[in-house]
Amino acid sequence: MNPDTAICQSCTAIKFQSQLFRCRGCESVWYCDKECQTRGWSEKGHKVECKILKVVRGIQVRDGDLIS
Ligand SMILES: [Zn+2]
Ligand SMILES: [Zn+2]
Repeated sequence: MNPDTAICQSCTAIKFQSQLFRCRGCESVWYCDKECQTRGWSEKGHKVECKILKVVRGIQVRDGDLIS
């Protein structure tokens, strides 16, 4: 895949990164828009996945926000 492109986690559309935005939580997945993000979060399981990706990427989890 072209390094300038990314896939939307929700609808799996492949677009240029400039046309997408990153999940603010894990910064690992991309979304077309707010609607795709909402759908990806609730219907595509990113709510759980996001926490895992955050840890995988070594992003510090704030105190009181530890994964149980
Ligand atoms: Zn999308
Ligand atoms: Zn995420």
